[in-house]
Amino acid sequence: MRTLIENLAFAITVDKDDSIIKRASMVIDGENISDIGPADDVARRHDRNKFDDIIDGTMMGVCPGFVDSHVHLSETLSRAVFPDDIDTRTWVFHWAKPFYAHISEEDELVGVFLGCAEMIRAGTTCLLDMGAQNDPATTVSAMKKIGIRGITGRHAADNPPAILPHGWSEEMVRHHFFPSAQAALAVLEETVDKWNGSAGGRIRCWVNIEGKEPCSLDLHIGARELAESLGVGTTYHLATSIEEADLCQHKHGKRPVQRIADRDGLGSNLVIAHGVALDDEECDAIASHNVKVAFCPGTSLKLAKGAAAFGRYPELMDAGVAVGLGTDGVSASGNLNLMRQLYVTAGLFKDARNDATLVGARKAIRMATIDGAKALNWDDEIGSLEVGKKADFVLFNLNHVEWTPYYDPAQALVWSASSASIAQTWINGIPVFKDGKIQTINEQEIFAEARKRSTRIIQRSGLSVRGVPKTTTLYS
Ligand SMILES: [Zn+2]
Repeated sequence: MRTLIENLAFAITVDKDDSIIKRASMVIDGENISDIGPADDVARRHDRNKFDDIIDGTMMGVCPGFVDSHVHLSETLSRAVFPDDIDTRTWVFHWAKPFYAHISEEDELVGVFLGCAEMIRAGTTCLLDMGAQNDPATTVSAMKKIGIRGITGRHAADNPPAILPHGWSEEMVRHHFFPSAQAALAVLEETVDKWNGSAGGRIRCWVNIEGKEPCSLDLHIGARELAESLGVGTTYHLATSIEEADLCQHKHGKRPVQRIADRDGLGSNLVIAHGVALDDEECDAIASHNVKVAFCPGTSLKLAKGAAAFGRYPELMDAGVAVGLGTDGVSASGNLNLMRQLYVTAGLFKDARNDATLVGARKAIRMATIDGAKALNWDDEIGSLEVGKKADFVLFNLNHVEWTPYYDPAQALVWSASSASIAQTWINGIPVFKDGKIQTINEQEIFAEARKRSTRIIQRSGLSVRGVPKTTTLYS
C-alpha cells in the first residue's frame, strides 16, 4: 500500500533540528515513511498515478505518534475506583493490589483493549506496559489485534509483606511473588523468549519487575543484567515518592537509586518509572549510566508525589537523560491520554519555579515522542517523522475550534489542542483510528463488557466495603 498525504498545513517532524515544515507532504510505503518534505519538493519526486491512495492534508497537521513510557494496561478497569486523598504507598498496597488480585484473564483482555483504545484515540502509537497480571498471552494478543506498538512483560516481585493486607488473594501472591530472585528471573527469561518480537516485531517483551519494596535488591540487579544478556530492556518503579525514599534510607541506609548504583545495577537498558524523589548524587548516577526515566505528571498530581516541589526532571534533561512521559495506569493518573501529560509537563516546572524558560511546548513534544522512543531504545524506528522510520503519526483536524486560528503549530499543539481534534492515528502504516472510530475492534462491545466487569471486580476485591486503610505501615 502506497499513500500520499499532500499539502499538510504543517509537519512537526521532531528531527534533530526540531524542524517544522509548513505545507508538507508525506509518502507512506507499507509500514514506513518513504518521503517527507515541503509539498512542492515531494510532488516533484513522485508520479501521482503511482499511489494507491492520496489524502488531502490541506486542513490537517501531522506530528509523530506519542510514546507512552509508563503504563499499566491491566489496571484499566479500575478507573476512579480508589479514593483520591491517599498517598502512593497506601494506594498501591491497599487499593491497587486488591483490585489487581481479582482481575481474571477475561477482565484483563477487556482492560487492555479499553486502555489501548483510549491511548490510540489520544495519539499514542507506542507504549511501555509494566506487564500482565495474568499470562502475557492475553496482553500480547489484544495489542496485536488492536494494532498498537509497544513493549510488555509480566508482573514479578519476590518480597511479599510479612502480613498480607485485606483483599490480596493467595492466587495473586503465588503468581506475582516468586520464592527468590532467581526463580523470578527464570520465568521472566521464558516470557521474553516467548513474546519478544511478536506481531512482526511491533510487540516487544522486556524483563519488567515491580521494583521498590516488593522486590529484593538482587531482583533489581538481576533483572537489568538478564535484560542486557537477552538484548532487551527492563523497567521498574523506583524513587516513586518521598515516603518510599525515606523508608529505603531508614531500612537500608541508602536512598533508592544510590542503593542500586552501589551494586553496579544502573545501565542504559533501564527505565526508571517515576524517579521523583532523587538527590543530586542520584541524578548524577542516572545521567552517567545513561539510565532512562519515565515521568508521569498526571500520577504526580493525583497521588501528591511532589514533582513540582522537588522533582529534578529539568535537571535530568539538562544532564542529557532521556526523560519520557507516561500516563501510568488509569487509576493512578485518571486517564491514559498522553496529550494531557504533554500539557502539564510543558507548564509544571515553569510555574513551580517561576521560570518561563523551563520545558515549554517544544521540549514537551520531544519528551512525548523522540525522548520516549529513546527511553524504549526504539528511536531507530520511531519517535520522529523522518524517511525510513515507521509510519506512526497523528493527524490533527485543523478545521476545529482548538486550532482556529493558530500560528506556531508546536505551541498550539501543546497549549491549545486536545485529543478532541485528532482526526487519525496511524500505527505501522495503518490508520488504526479514523472517522471517529478505532478500526480494529468493536469499541461499544468493549465498553459494555468493561462496565460490567469493573463492578464485579470491585465486589470480589472487597473495595466496596468501608474500612480500607487510608495510610499504611506496610514494609516499614
Ligand atoms: Zn506504575
